[in-house]
Amino acid sequence: MLYDLIIIGAGPGGIFTAYEFNRLNPGAKIAVFETGGKLEERKCPIDGVKIKSCINCKSCSIMNGFGGAGAFSDGKYNITTEFGGTLHEHLGKKTAVDLMEYVDGINLSHGGEGTKLYTTTNSRIKTLCLQNGLHLLDASVRHLGTDKNYIVLQNIYNELKDKVDFFFHTPVQSVAKSADGYTVQTAKGDYSGKICVISAGRSGSKWMEEVCASLKLATNSNRVDLGVRVELPYEIFAHLTDELYESKIVYRTEKFQDLVRTFCMNPRGAVVNENTNGIVTVNGHSYDDPAKYTNNTNFALLVSKHFSLPFRYSNAYGESVARLSNMLGGGVLIQRFGDLIRGQRSNDRRIEESFCVPTLSATPGDLSLVMPKRILDGIIEMIYALDKIAPGTANDDTLLYGVEVKFYNMEVETDKNLETALPGLFVIGDCGGVTHSLSQASASGIYVARYIADKYLA
Ligand SMILES: Cc1cc2nc3c(=O)[nH]c(=O)nc-3n(C[C@H](O)[C@H](O)[C@H](O)COP(=O)(O)OP(=O)(O)OC[C@H]3O[C@@H](n4cnc5c(N)ncnc54)[C@H](O)[C@@H]3O)c2cc1C
Repeated sequence: MLYDLIIIGAGPGGIFTAYEFNRLNPGAKIAVFETGGKLEERKCPIDGVKIKSCINCKSCSIMNGFGGAGAFSDGKYNITTEFGGTLHEHLGKKTAVDLMEYVDGINLSHGGEGTKLYTTTNSRIKTLCLQNGLHLLDASVRHLGTDKNYIVLQNIYNELKDKVDFFFHTPVQSVAKSADGYTVQTAKGDYSGKICVISAGRSGSKWMEEVCASLKLATNSNRVDLGVRVELPYEIFAHLTDELYESKIVYRTEKFQDLVRTFCMNPRGAVVNENTNGIVTVNGHSYDDPAKYTNNTNFALLVSKHFSLPFRYSNAYGESVARLSNMLGGGVLIQRFGDLIRGQRSNDRRIEESFCVPTLSATPGDLSLVMPKRILDGIIEMIYALDKIAPGTANDDTLLYGVEVKFYNMEVETDKNLETALPGLFVIGDCGGVTHSLSQASASGIYVARYIADKYLA
């Protein structure tokens, strides 16, 4: 059968493309191909007892499956063009924000009602930051929480499942131009569609590079963000997180003039492992349900590294640093801030004696043996800067987990409508290197669905 629309990847980008396209063209034939399984099939085998660390499953339940990388995330939908991607450079700021608000409305009407929308507008914290050399970025944040995020995804899936052909456990091997449009090859057979939208996310980055090479699509190198996840008692950041939930704060270091920023703040949350292409890094999330609160808050401190020619492989650089931590710790390393400053590794005893109890079981070690000096120096400077607005941040017992890496895909060259040089082939979401957030990936899906409905199938 010839589909009207083939979508590769069932993350937020792919889901919202299918949702909007089906809404606009109820009878259209839509196929979604996904490496992972349905939402309820997605179970990470780490139970903390029998399996304590990543066993490199063939398809990672955290990253792959319905809901994509965001399925078990904190469900923080940042409605902003200040971070989370550069979608506005394609669509313009107003359109990008309107689309993010539209996505917010869909989430609310599918189980997210009652969740809180936080905003930085007129926040006194902004002033406090400025007085201390820190910069708070503007945003509104809808916090669904891991539990409600799951419910929203399940409701959207239930609404779509009889209208869209979902092919789970069906990674697309390659994409080829055909007489009618595009043909995707899978282990279960070939499928054709008039239009093809690729939304393979970060986990599909290597595969995407192969697709670009085979279809001769131009790419530009992107950046990698490296850093640590900080964990401390909830009370230390409570005055920020109670008011803003997520605060994106940027600091310029005195030593190297690098920008260090906070990322993915999880009040009363938990630190978790993340597996990207077999490399274990660290991340964090939190729940909306008070029963699941922890005593700690966690957030990442990240530094962006851009490389210029002749080096093009920013992700490979990030992987190499993360591999070092995996080599020393068998996974993620944990170190007390006090131990790092004194130049000593943390060990089991020091972690056990810490007043801040870790929420992730990680191997005590020495992050200075892993992180490039320039980046680690910047992170230490930022911790002391944050200590001025949130006293206690630089306590000895503040826990640092490493390595946190944000990989970005090569940026695939598209026009302003996210259409590649091949008419009818679109690359959206994190996969194209344009977005790196739930809101913007989802918004890019809505945009192309409307564009395709208008241009190709009117
Ligand atoms: C633990 C964690 C927490 C996060 N928390 C937040 C947060 O709170 N807020 C926020 O804004 N962002 C968060 N993010 C980032 C956010 O999840 C992503 O930006 C977003 O999911 C990107 O959506 P996407 O659709 O572009 O890609 P993805 O969500 O990565 O989805 C891509 C899908 O494509 C599938 N796929 C890949 N290759 C193929 C192939 N060849 N064939 C078929 N299918 C394929 C994958 O299995 C995957 O399901 C988090 C990420 C992680 C990992």
